[in-house]
Amino acid sequence: MPRRAVVIGAGTAGVLAAAALAPVVDEVIVLDRDDLPGGPDHRRGVPQGRHAHLLMAGGLEAIDALVPASVDIRDHLRDAGAKEISLAKGMLALTPEGWFRRWSRDGHHMVTCTRALLDWAVRTAVMRYRGISVHRAHARALLGSAARVTGVRVGAVGGAGFAPRFTALEGLRVSADGAEADLAADFVVDASGRGSRIVTWLEEVGITGVQERTLDTGLVNSTRIFRTPPGAEGWPLTLVQPDPFTGEPGRSGMVVPIEDDAGGARWMVSFGGSRGGEPPKDEEKFLQYAFDLPHPIVGQLVAGAEPLTPVFTSHSSSNARRYLEKAPAWPDGLVVLGDALATFNPLYGQGMSVAALSALALARTVRDRWGTPGLARRAQREVAKPIEAAWTLAVSSDVLYPGIVGGGPTLADRISARYTRRLVRAATGSYPAASALWDVTSVKAGPLRLLRPAVVTAALAGPPLPRLSGPPLTRAEHEILRRLTDRPQPAPYPPPPPRGPDHQP
Ligand SMILES: Cc1cc2nc3c(=O)[nH]c(=O)nc-3n(C[C@H](O)[C@H](O)[C@H](O)COP(=O)(O)OP(=O)(O)OC[C@H]3O[C@@H](n4cnc5c(N)ncnc54)[C@H](O)[C@@H]3O)c2cc1C
Repeated sequence: MPRRAVVIGAGTAGVLAAAALAPVVDEVIVLDRDDLPGGPDHRRGVPQGRHAHLLMAGGLEAIDALVPASVDIRDHLRDAGAKEISLAKGMLALTPEGWFRRWSRDGHHMVTCTRALLDWAVRTAVMRYRGISVHRAHARALLGSAARVTGVRVGAVGGAGFAPRFTALEGLRVSADGAEADLAADFVVDASGRGSRIVTWLEEVGITGVQERTLDTGLVNSTRIFRTPPGAEGWPLTLVQPDPFTGEPGRSGMVVPIEDDAGGARWMVSFGGSRGGEPPKDEEKFLQYAFDLPHPIVGQLVAGAEPLTPVFTSHSSSNARRYLEKAPAWPDGLVVLGDALATFNPLYGQGMSVAALSALALARTVRDRWGTPGLARRAQREVAKPIEAAWTLAVSSDVLYPGIVGGGPTLADRISARYTRRLVRAATGSYPAASALWDVTSVKAGPLRLLRPAVVTAALAGPPLPRLSGPPLTRAEHEILRRLTDRPQPAPYPPPPPRGPDHQP
């Protein structure tokens, strides 16, 4: 039989895991319970795809290293319609410590588009590897023992049995009734997302004692797509962050430019609210929520904009981690990554980037160590490493919100949150501090980047420039906002922010 890897799940993590394995095996079989769309379309298996998905610079670099060398993923995404936005120059962000400045220096580019477009673009790039095929099937169990995983038991989806292309796979044993099949593999990756049953599956092959931690702020996300008002096509990504230090529920909002449709430019407007501050599904209240954020700019932008979709709401946004890298025993031939391993509060926009870095760690480990004893154990430890920074960032703030389920702040959480707060304050008026922070939030650097002497000094000294009194808009942007707020509004309408002395043209 050819050397075979099976990947469960064709989301970001699964497709990138397939890219990681393609160079070392003869075939990679990717299983998904969904039929994958032929274009950039939403699908049921990725319900979070309705909400804003930012791809950070570190994630983009990792994807670029994973796709075939013939593809420049940045160009590929841009050609598909994705936007590239500089955190330093192209973002308006209100933090709990004030507005970030916009710097003349470019850098820390992130990609914005719908999740559907991103998945499709990455998938089409990865499928250029020889030997990868995607099949519709529902993974139900692992085959093998605590010493070695030897394949996956799958169920047919949709009542029509397995497709002939699937049943033709070598080494497949289909049950008498045709509803189940055992698929043999040399290597299995679980990338089935936050609903993964990996802990149960491990128990079934004899591995117990996996530690898990869940911290749930009760976060709810609400999202709606709007037509970008004419003339506002170049408007920067706009972000109003929640404040974990008030003792009140967190409320955040963002306006994200996404790919155009046939009718022109579009904004995806997403809100996130922790327990007690949940954003509504109701279309009328959606706008009111925007005005109730710590600054009304999101409401001002979208109050008169034409909605293109209903409001989509999702509730499954807890921080959850399975410490599989610390499991007392680990079978050969199995690795788990992506949301199946760890999920984070989506506010920080890091899940896909961490998944990409984990897949890159998998690629390096299998390239260097394929066939050596303990390969999977080693790979599991490597794929877990990129999680640490994103987890600390999310959890040390999230534990401060009221109604948190899963444990209050530890001393380490409080120290980490207090230091991050000082650094964010410094970053509102210091490029080196902002740049260090963005290196970490863009998953380009680990948390130690924040402890370099120059960064610690900047954090302790505070911002050398004064706090901005309003969003740092250019003259043209002031004009756009004035025009938008002069339109007849459906709701009581706050005036635009005053131009402060620190206005930066
Ligand atoms: C509201 C929200 C907003 C977010 N925003 C961002 C953001 O801005 N930036 C960011 O980087 N991340 C963001 N994330 C996180 C991001 O969505 C995840 O980190 C990312 O989807 C992880 O990819 P994955 O492949 O592990 O899982 P998924 O994308 O969930 O894919 C799992 C796949 O497995 C399939 N599957 C599941 N079970 C089975 C089975 N038994 N058999 C076969 N197939 C199966 C599913 O159909 C699906 O295709 C956000 C998350 C949420 C909830």
